[in-house]
Formats: sequence, structure tokens, C-alpha cells
Amino acid sequence: MTTVPTLKTNDGRSIPQLGFGVFQIPQDETEKAVTTALQEGYRLIDTAQGYQNEEGVGAALAASDVPRDEVFVTTKLTNSEHGYDSTMSAFDVSMTKLGLDVLDLFLIHWPLPMFDQYVDTWRAFEKLQEDGRVRSIGVSNFEIEHLERLAAETDVVPAVNQVELHPQFPQSELRAYHAEHGILTESWGPIGQGKGLLENEHIQAVANAKGRTPAQVVLRWHLQLGLVVIPKSVTPSRIAENFALFDFELDDDDMARIAKVDTGERLGADPKTFAMR
Ligand code: NAD
Repeated sequence: MTTVPTLKTNDGRSIPQLGFGVFQIPQDETEKAVTTALQEGYRLIDTAQGYQNEEGVGAALAASDVPRDEVFVTTKLTNSEHGYDSTMSAFDVSMTKLGLDVLDLFLIHWPLPMFDQYVDTWRAFEKLQEDGRVRSIGVSNFEIEHLERLAAETDVVPAVNQVELHPQFPQSELRAYHAEHGILTESWGPIGQGKGLLENEHIQAVANAKGRTPAQVVLRWHLQLGLVVIPKSVTPSRIAENFALFDFELDDDDMARIAKVDTGERLGADPKTFAMR
């Protein structure tokens, strides 16, 4: 079976470079989808409190014969639970739903800067890590200014920042900041969330030239940029397709052609103004 390459985190651990995202998978379909992904060889599962399917992830992990220490499980603090005490109790609820004693990676889902709580929330994350309840701590949808504030006011540098990232919105500046500060970049919406990226003429041209699908070419682009990538699908054939990335490479011309897709336009919300909780 294919072994996915891993990347080193700034806290001395490692994370698989390819994982399985479960955003928008209904609770009653999640166990089946995660089971299919584990059978295919995925060893990173990315859920969130806000996805309301942590129990489905937990059920799949419990039923699987893959040893617990071979699966990397991520969940995220939901927006309504910011603040030190709320973070602590929301973490406990997640662990019960996931059926886990120790979590691999806990992320702050969104910074919500307008409510000015993410520094307090991060202190709770530091405590959870210090207590050994979570191995690595990170953030999601943080902009450079939010990372700078954590650096100035707290002790632990996030291991990971999970952000919207795909050829249309490649986040070059943020990636450079991460590289400089030892933060791994994890791409959400990596194949463009079914919103037209895979139909782009440059992506199609590279896919045709390589004899690969557009999704495979885009996912390979993420891997070659050194990113962690977590595509989502509930369709078994696509779950397999999105994992079959380790027997081909993009050359410099392919990477340059994919770079032409950059429009600087997000598909999702802007973290500076996103306020939903
Ligand atoms: P994605 O880019 O992974 O797109 C998923 C969609 O693409 C599927 O619903 C399906 O319609 C289509 N698709 C999947 N495989 C395909 C294939 N091989 N060929 C053609 N179409 C295919 O989008 P996503 O689910 O939003 O992002 C991936 C994961 O990132 C999520 O599941 C979640 O875990 C995470 N995420 C995090 C945040 C955040 O705020 N931190 C936000 C969105 C997503």
C-alpha cells in the first residue's frame, strides 16, 4: 500500500502530506466515507466541531483495524466557543464524540478578530498541549497580522495554519511568512470546491498532457509546493483518484502553467471580516 510522505512540524512531530477532509459530509454518511478513505490508505482525517460529524469520524476510527497511532486526527474549535474556558469544555466534547484520549492536531477554526478573543483561546490551546491532551496545536484562516499578534503575546508558534489555497488563490505571501516562521501550510478547498477550477483551460491542458485527471494534477501541485492537502469526496472512485498521486510528477513547465490560473480571488470568506458564530 502507498505510504504518504510526511512533513515535520515545529514541535518535533510529523504530519501526513495528504489527508481526507469531511466538510459538508452529513453525520450519517461520514462513517462510510472515512472508512473508505482509511481503506484506500489515507492516514489524516480533517474534521471540525462545526461540521457536526465528529461522531461519524469516531465511529469509523473505532471500527477500523488501522492502529490508532497510524492515523492523524484533526478537529477545530468552533467559532462560538472562543475564550479560555469555552475552549477547554468544547475540547472535551470533541474528544468524547471522536472517542479519543489524545488528539493529533487542534485548530482555531477562524480568528474572528472583531471579537478579540483568539489570544485567550490560544492560551487554552497551549495548556491542552502542555497537559498532553493534544499533540500539536495550530490555527486556521489566520492572516499574517493574526499570527504576528500570537507571536507577540503568547509562547507557542502554531504548528500549522490551514487556509483556503488552490491555484486560483495560491497565498504566496502567507506561504512565505509560514516558511520563515516554521509554520506548515495546509490547503483547504484544494481542488476548488466544485466551483469551476477543474474546468480551467490551463489545468485541463496539463491534465491532458500528463494523462491524469484535473483533480490529480491540482493535488500534485499542492504536494510539490510542500503543502499539506485534504481533498474531500464521498464518492469511492474519487476518494481513490485523489489518493493516486505518487506515481507521477509535474515538471517546471507544468507548475508554471498552473501558476497562470492565479486570479487572486477567494472562493470562501475573508478571515479579516468573517464574523459568523
Ligand atoms: P475541495 O476543494 O476538497 O472540493 C470538494 C468537492 O470537489 C467535492 O464535494 C466534489 O464535489 C469535488 N470533487 C472531489 N474529488 C473530485 C474529483 N476527483 N474530481 C472532480 N471533483 C471532485 O473542498 P472542501 O471540501 O471545501 O475542502 C477540503 C477540506 O478542507 C474540507 O473537507 C475540510 O476538511 C477542510 N476545509 C476547511 C475550512 C476551514 O475553514 N478551515 C474550510 C473549508 C474546508
